[in-house]
Formats: sequence, structure tokens, C-alpha cells
Amino acid sequence: MERADVVVVGCGVIGASVAYHLAKREAGLKVLVLEREKAPCTGSTPLSAGGIRAQFTTEVNIRLSNYAIDFYERMSDELECHFDFEQHGYLFVTSEEETAARFAGNVELQRSLGVPVEVLEPAQIAERWPHLRSDDLVLGTFSGKDGYADPYEATMGFYQATRRLGGVEFRFATPVTGIEQSEGKVTHVLTSHGKIETPWVIDCAGPWLREVASMAGLDLPAQPIRRCLWNTEPFELIKGKIPLTIDMDTGFYTRSESGGLMLGLANPDEPPSFNTVLDDDWLEVLIEKAMHRVPCLEHAEVARGWGGLYSVTPDHLPILGRVPGLAGFLSAGGFSGHGFMHAPSTGLLMAEIVLDGEATTIDISSLSIERFQGAGDLTAEVNVI
Ligand SMILES: Cc1cc2nc3c(=O)[nH]c(=O)nc-3n(C[C@H](O)[C@H](O)[C@H](O)COP(=O)(O)OP(=O)(O)OC[C@H]3O[C@@H](n4cnc5c(N)ncnc54)[C@H](O)[C@@H]3O)c2cc1C
Repeated sequence: MERADVVVVGCGVIGASVAYHLAKREAGLKVLVLEREKAPCTGSTPLSAGGIRAQFTTEVNIRLSNYAIDFYERMSDELECHFDFEQHGYLFVTSEEETAARFAGNVELQRSLGVPVEVLEPAQIAERWPHLRSDDLVLGTFSGKDGYADPYEATMGFYQATRRLGGVEFRFATPVTGIEQSEGKVTHVLTSHGKIETPWVIDCAGPWLREVASMAGLDLPAQPIRRCLWNTEPFELIKGKIPLTIDMDTGFYTRSESGGLMLGLANPDEPPSFNTVLDDDWLEVLIEKAMHRVPCLEHAEVARGWGGLYSVTPDHLPILGRVPGLAGFLSAGGFSGHGFMHAPSTGLLMAEIVLDGEATTIDISSLSIERFQGAGDLTAEVNVI
């Protein structure tokens, strides 16, 4: 029977990063990446807005981002790939006093962890980004180290660098159909093409995290939820590239894309499902909120839109690491809209668990599944869109 030291399920940005970090750390390791589709990066990754930021409200998310931002800054050199990290920043704005007061607490935490975040008065926002309506704003926060990039480029960068390192086999059109165990340990992975003996399975199945975990009799509470994005046609209404800008009062967000703007707004009433059909009706709701904050959008045309899936947990934090009751099974999902930005840190930490026995670079004990079983800290991430 075929044998692998580690089986990685899924080849989105998370599976590709996990494979890269395993191959980089341990040349002799036999790693199999099993992907049910015919190519890498066909799940939620290429549908992402590509945002990368450290402006979070939880220490663990900030630490995951700090590592990832440093990594993405050097990715093109280190992995010898084309990867353009556009560090035009992230700008959070609010017109509500209560939210502004909350921003202050967030900034203190972010700065204590090294995030170079600025607090901006409405006049400063107006001066730097005149396309934004700012007369109703109370406050903004900005970090110029944040920004955005192409998640497909990142995934292909990990994938191609891993192939050059060797030791990892990527197998496409190979769905995982079962996970076997004996005496509380993973023993085999079943696929459409046969059975593989392995002591480690890393669930990097994105929105299908829960489905794959259930094959091992585990319940990981992450639900797929549709999120839609639209791009405008290119226009001359705004000079230069803008930060990824989030209106925290409405949830509307935008950034530069292909000479125009990308526009997003989560529907809070969207039910969990695998539906990815573009929600045309929601565009009308979005446009109203978008034109309030970016009035020149009145002259823009929407070019196209698409729907994709977030994998959302009850506290909007990922489920990372070992799952009690089944040795050898690792969860790497439930990112709640932040999986692209957290891919480098997740890859590193999963490799540390496999090779060193525990994640050491960042303390991710608070991200264990045990927090939903009454054994941990349930402080939710608040800066979520
Ligand atoms: C509209 C939208 C905007 C977003 N914006 C951002 C953002 O700005 N920044 C950010 O960081 N994140 C963002 N995200 C989230 C981000 O896209 C995800 O967190 C990230 O792509 C997750 O990567 P992944 O590799 O876990 O999942 P995926 O890319 O979905 O990959 C999972 C893979 O697992 C495979 N798979 C599933 N089941 C099996 C099986 N049984 N056997 C074999 N293979 C299987 C699938 O085919 C898929 O290829 C956004 C998401 C959406 C939808």
C-alpha cells in the first residue's frame, strides 16, 4: 500500500503554503497534497479580495498577520516567483463616537505588537484621500504596511517553489473520501484512487473543512457563507492607488483594482450554504452605501461581480492545530475571511506541529477547537467584514 508521512487535503493557498513550509523544513519528508479539482487554486482563494492587514482586535490575529506581512514582503525574492504585494495600506473609518472609542483600544493593542498604525482626524483623511466623503467622519485608523495582492499569484508561488524543493507530490482530480483511524490515531486516507497509509492528515479544505473533518468523525464548527464582490470599469475619477478602505459603520469596503475599484459588502443575513451565485439584488444595497462614502462612484460603471465562500466560525477566528481525540489530524481552516493573509503563518505553524510536536513561533493555543468545548478563551475577532 502507498505510504506518505503527511497528507494535505486541498490545494488552495493554505494547502500550498503548508506543503511549501513542510518541504522547506524537512527535505526527506514524503508529503502528498490531494486536491479534488484538476488544478491548484480553484476554491475560495482566487475569489478573495486579496486584502492583507494587521489591524485586528485580537492579539493572535495580529501576530498571524505580522508574520504573514513580513513573509509576503519578501515572497517574490525568497520563492523566486512573481508576487506583487501592493502596500497601499488599510484605512478603517467611522462616523460613530462609540466605534471611534473602540478604535482607540484596538490601536493600543496593535501598536503594542509593532503595527505602525496611525490615528487620523477627518481633516487628515480628507487631505490624503479626497475621493472619500469625510465631513461625517469621527476618526480613521491607517497602517501603510497593510495592503493587497493577488491570491492566485501567492498560491502558484507556493506551489511552484514547493515543486522545486521536491519531496512533495501534488495529486489533482483526487478527492479524499474517507479518513481511517485506530486507537485514537489517524492511520489511512481513502481517495477516489485508492488508500494511503499516513500518520498525519492536515485539513486545508477551505469551506469544506467541516466535510473533510466529518470523514474522521470530527465536528469542526465552520460554516460556508457566500460573499460577493464587484469590480468597476477603469476610470479616471481617483488619482493613484487607494488603501483597502473599510467603512466600519456599514461594512462597505473598497480598494483599487485594474484601474477602477473593487467593491464589497457582506450581507449579514446571508445563510450558511455552498451557494456561490452572484447576488445581483445585493448590489443595489451596496451601491447606496458605496456612493455615500465614495461619491464619485456615481460616474463609474460596474464591470463584473462574483460570489465566493467564507468559512466562518462562531468567533470569526480560525480553528488551527490538533483536534483532541484524534492524534495526527490537524485543522487549518475556518479563517472567516482572512485565510489568504494568514496562509504564510498557517503553513509555518502546521509544519512546526508535524516536525517539532508543537507550534512555537506563535502561540495558537487559543485557536484550538477546545475553545468551543468550554475549555478556552472565546474572545471574538471584531474587525471582520
Ligand atoms: C469574496 C471573498 C473575499 C475574501 N477576501 C479576503 C481578503 O481580503 N483577505 C483574506 O485573507 N481572505 C479573504 N477571503 C478568504 C480567503 O479567500 C480564504 O480564507 C482562503 O482562500 C482559504 O484558502 P483555503 O486554501 O483554505 O481554501 P480554498 O481555496 O477553498 O481551497 C480548499 C481546497 O480544498 C479542496 N477540497 C475540498 N474538499 C476536498 C476533498 N474532499 N478532497 C480533496 N480536496 C478537497 C477544494 O477543491 C479547494 O481547492 C475572501 C473570500 C471571499 C469569498
